[in-house]
Amino acid sequence: MSAQGLSAERRERIQALVLFGPPGSGKGTQAKLLVQCLGIPQISTGDMLREHIQAGNALGREISGIMRAGGLVPDEKVNALVEERLERPDCARGFILDGYPRTRQQAEALHRWLLRRNIDELVIHLIVDYNSLITRLTGRRQCPLCGTLYNLFSKAPKQDEICDLDGTKLVIREDDSASVIKERLDAYDRQTQPLIAYFREEGRRLLALDASSVPPQELLQKICQAIREDTRG
Ligand code: ADP
Repeated sequence: MSAQGLSAERRERIQALVLFGPPGSGKGTQAKLLVQCLGIPQISTGDMLREHIQAGNALGREISGIMRAGGLVPDEKVNALVEERLERPDCARGFILDGYPRTRQQAEALHRWLLRRNIDELVIHLIVDYNSLITRLTGRRQCPLCGTLYNLFSKAPKQDEICDLDGTKLVIREDDSASVIKERLDAYDRQTQPLIAYFREEGRRLLALDASSVPPQELLQKICQAIREDTRG
């Protein structure tokens, strides 16, 4: 399914898509595919935070320890970054949030921001079983040059540990080591997963999709179909 499957009017009504799910559930992959088919930007808080660390600025220095340990960056810092990002012109027709909100405070801040602008919010919950998450996270490799993601189990490069596109040696994300993966999954269970009950209580539009054993393109089709059905109502 592509954007052509969604009428112009329905696309107009899609404003804030929240991709929600544990580390390794495929939020980033789906966000990138949705960018191509919906033509609205991906806002990944993980990527934004990593950029600050790479830039070596004050915020980056403050948060690098937290991220290396697999913890969550304080709400006020993430909220400020997101609000500043959402004000930019490319978000005017809508945006895809990847990895945000992750706490109750973030969810409330986002909701207030959206309410003030009369923007619709749709949460897409990607459900993946624990064993698949571990496999995905431990097998993940990335090209440091072009950013292409690989997985040793499901999307291996043609040549061991080498990027198919530019021949660069692939790297493991610093927080994809076994002990940090455990911390990230714990943080998800403690602080993020409970948001599902909160979204339900608050009557938010929430779509749950089984994302365990579905190839990315097939999952994209399921997401687009779910959006179509939701926006039809
Ligand atoms: P994943 O979903 O696989 O954990 P991300 O790139 O979304 O990957 O996040 C990586 C790290 O960035 C998190 O472990 C956390 O330290 C930080 N982070 C990302 N988004 C948030 C957020 N919304 N709130 C707090 N910390 C965040």
